[in-house]
This record gives sequence, C-alpha cells and structure tokens, in this order.
Amino acid sequence: MERIEPCLEASLPCETHYVLLIGPPGSGKGTQSAQLCATLRLPHLASGDLLREHVQRGTVLGRKARSHMDRGDLVPDDVVIDMVMDRLGSGDCVSGALFDGFPRTLAQAAALDRALATSGRRVGLVLYIEVPDAVLAERLGGRFLCRACGASYHVVFHPPRRPGLCDCDDGELYQRDDDRPDTLARRLNVYRELTVPLIDYYRRHGVLVTIDGNQPIATVTTQLYAELSRVFSNRTEQRVARR
Ligand code: ADP
Ligand code: ADP
Repeated sequence: MERIEPCLEASLPCETHYVLLIGPPGSGKGTQSAQLCATLRLPHLASGDLLREHVQRGTVLGRKARSHMDRGDLVPDDVVIDMVMDRLGSGDCVSGALFDGFPRTLAQAAALDRALATSGRRVGLVLYIEVPDAVLAERLGGRFLCRACGASYHVVFHPPRRPGLCDCDDGELYQRDDDRPDTLARRLNVYRELTVPLIDYYRRHGVLVTIDGNQPIATVTTQLYAELSRVFSNRTEQRVARR
C-alpha cells in the first residue's frame, strides 16, 4: 500500500478541492482515482462509470449513450453535462470532488467552470497524466474491470489477488467491449481532436500539472500526491497567514 503524505489529508477540509484527471484512454485515471479518493475522502466523479451504470440499467440516458460509446465516440455534450452536473449537485460534492474523464471537451470545461462559479468555487488543480500512444494498446488489451465497483486491473501490470475476482468486493472482473484495438484507434483520434485542447485551456488558467504516467503505478501515485500536497497545502498556509 502507498505511503500517504501526512500533511495533505490534514489540509483538505479547509477549502473546496475540485481536482481533474485528464489523460488518454488507458493512462491510469481510474487506477489513480481509486487510490486518491480513498485517501483524501473525495467523491470520485467518473463520467465513464456513470454512463456505464446508465447503460447497464437501460435508462433513457443509457440508451442515448450506448451507440456513441460502442463506436468509441464521445457521448454528446448536453447529455454528459446534465448527468455530471446532477451528480455534482449531490451533498457529498459540496466541498470537493475528483473528476475522472470529465471534462473531455471545451464545452464541458466551460459548463463545469460556470457551475462551480455560481457558488464561488473553481477547479483548483488539473493533473494531466501523459502516456505515449504505444503503451496504451497494451494496457487496454489487458484491462479488466470489476462489475460491482469499477476497480481497474491488468493481467500483467496490476493483477488481482485471485484471478477473475476484485480484491475489494469479490466482484466479477470483465473486459470492456470498447477496449478492442479498432475502437481504441477511434478513441485516440477523438481524444486528440476534442480533449487535448483542454490541456492548453487549463494551462492558461494556471492550474495544469503534467505527470509522467509511463512509470510504475505506485510511482505515479506518489507524484500525484506530491502535486496535490504542494498546491493545496500552499493555499492552506496562505490562508492561515492572512488571518
Ligand atoms: P483510464 O481510466 O485512464 O482509462 P485505467 O486506470 O483503467 O486507465 O488503466 C488502464 C489499464 O492500465 C488498466 O488495466 C490498469 O491496471 C493499467 N495501468 C494503469 N496505470 C498503469 C501504470 N502506471 N503502469 C502499468 N499499467 C497501468
Ligand atoms: P477511458 O477509461 O478509456 O478513458 P471512460 O470510461 O472514461 O474511458 O469512458 C468510456 C466512454 O464513455 C468514452 O469512450 C465515451 O464514449 C464516454 N464518455 C466518458 N466520459 C465522457 C465525457 N466526459 N464526454 C463524452 N463522452 C464520455
């Protein structure tokens, strides 16, 4: 288990913490979110997980989303924005959340900024997990997810303790239909065209940090904690100094 930066958790309850993880499919957003959310006690707001829940339940939203997801395209902005804003409105997100896979377009980023600004909140940190394309196919080809909790495993890089079963809740592990090589190519094109512009958007807002995601899982986690600690501890210290 990772050793956690002790100062970070202590600094968290003092202000709102809206943190985004951005990166291509397979960069490790889900894997890292699980670690970060458990330690920081932040709600995990993963648009892909929310969409898959809708598809599984056969809701109207799920039926609208399914064909886009199967093709490797993005689900239309209005559908995803409504879904995520609804989740953001829940009581547990009032002082922070870790967004995983949202926003994925400039329109979604603007919608999130507007929603947070209505109550004086804002995105505090965007962690961009950079991974070369060549690594992604190998990662997604061996990815297995838990049907119950969505935890992400890999046959080689992050195997479960018992084959086919989730370490957390014994849930059944399955492979996503959209992790096929042909769909991945489409998802990467969509990522480059629609999501990469967010990197500049958040860089201009002064909240972007790039992390090398092509390192062992635990090393990436340590670097993410270091950035979270640096950004949020500084703010906490500044607030204390102003009092
Ligand atoms: P994303 O949510 O960004 O699509 P995941 O967290 O599901 O990515 O990771 C994709 C796959 O790669 C999973 O099988 C996961 O176990 C594996 N993985 C994640 N991070 C790393 C890493 N740093 N090194 C090797 N494999 C990784
Ligand atoms: P990955 O882990 O591979 O990055 P996700 O689980 O986040 O993928 O998303 C799976 C699919 O759900 C995407 O390929 C897309 O079709 C849809 N999706 C997820 N998040 C969004 C979003 N913010 N906007 C539009 N579509 C989304």
